[in-house]
Amino acid sequence: MIRWLLSIGVAILALGNCASAGDDVIPNVVLGIHGGIGEDKKDMTPEIEARVRAALNAALKAGKAKLDTGGTSLDAVETAIRVMEDDSILNAGRGAVFTHEGRNELDASIMDGKTKKAGAVASVTTVKNPISAARAVMEKTRHVMLIGEGAEVFAAKQGLEIVDPSYFWTEHEWKAILDIWKKEAAARNNGQAVIPAIAKPHLGTVGAVAIDAQRNLAAGTSTGGLQNKMHGRIGDSPIIGAGTYADNEAAAISCTGTGEFFIRFSVSHEIVAQMKYKKVSSKEAAEDVINRQLKELNAEGAAIVLDKSGQFTTARNSEGLYRGWITADGAVTVRIYE
Ligand code: ASP
Repeated sequence: MIRWLLSIGVAILALGNCASAGDDVIPNVVLGIHGGIGEDKKDMTPEIEARVRAALNAALKAGKAKLDTGGTSLDAVETAIRVMEDDSILNAGRGAVFTHEGRNELDASIMDGKTKKAGAVASVTTVKNPISAARAVMEKTRHVMLIGEGAEVFAAKQGLEIVDPSYFWTEHEWKAILDIWKKEAAARNNGQAVIPAIAKPHLGTVGAVAIDAQRNLAAGTSTGGLQNKMHGRIGDSPIIGAGTYADNEAAAISCTGTGEFFIRFSVSHEIVAQMKYKKVSSKEAAEDVINRQLKELNAEGAAIVLDKSGQFTTARNSEGLYRGWITADGAVTVRIYE
């Protein structure tokens, strides 16, 4: 009887793990994307879901069109991410979350798996498409990361579109930060120490991984960061080796989740390192980092991984992950909680 109960328990645990273990390995993928951990299932509405699915579909199609017309994996990654930055339903570019001070501060990075060149911008408030600024840093400077005003001046000089900070404002994100401020004020009135509360920290950071006809890999990530973050806080998304990494010898990776943990665990590089030196598959490496190392600390997050043979997989310890992929023959898959 006890053994029977134990085996049922083990089966339930295994099922539980399956449910949060991400996608199986999918072959022949040329572009994979994510739009962050997203809404909790209980808060998801048909309207939000339709908008998220439309955004992911549009990003996949635009990125694939680049590849089909001779574009590189970098072109596909940049294009797909620009589409998601422009869509206000996701937490990148327009629609970014607000800081504790009520601003939108954006981070992005991109990496070329062939040359291992990389570029990033952080804490920018006027660059319409931070991913393009990150790419310009990679291609036009001898640096890897520019931040704040320096990044904005550089982006303008590169002819990238500059917008008023109000461009990033959206009603749903503004309501969310007002709600947090209200709770903080109530806590203050009750004499409680005020810790910037993070109601729903992960809303829709975006990322993309691609492989092109020359079998070169690229990865990129763009975000408004964590809701209610401190002014000047920088997450993992613009940090090469944390939120983004690409190496033609292994895989291209983009992450989403509580950035502080992704920085501390060098998540994207750790996945590549396990693949290269431990000789494990992309799935095993990603599951180890996301569902063992991070999960042990209750660090929520996910990674999408495209390996050098075009096999795509994801690992997550969150309820959902906005994600999708497109294969060489143009078949599109978009998933959220499944
Ligand atoms: N990783 C992002 C950050 O910490 C947030 C996210 O992925 O939702 O800035």
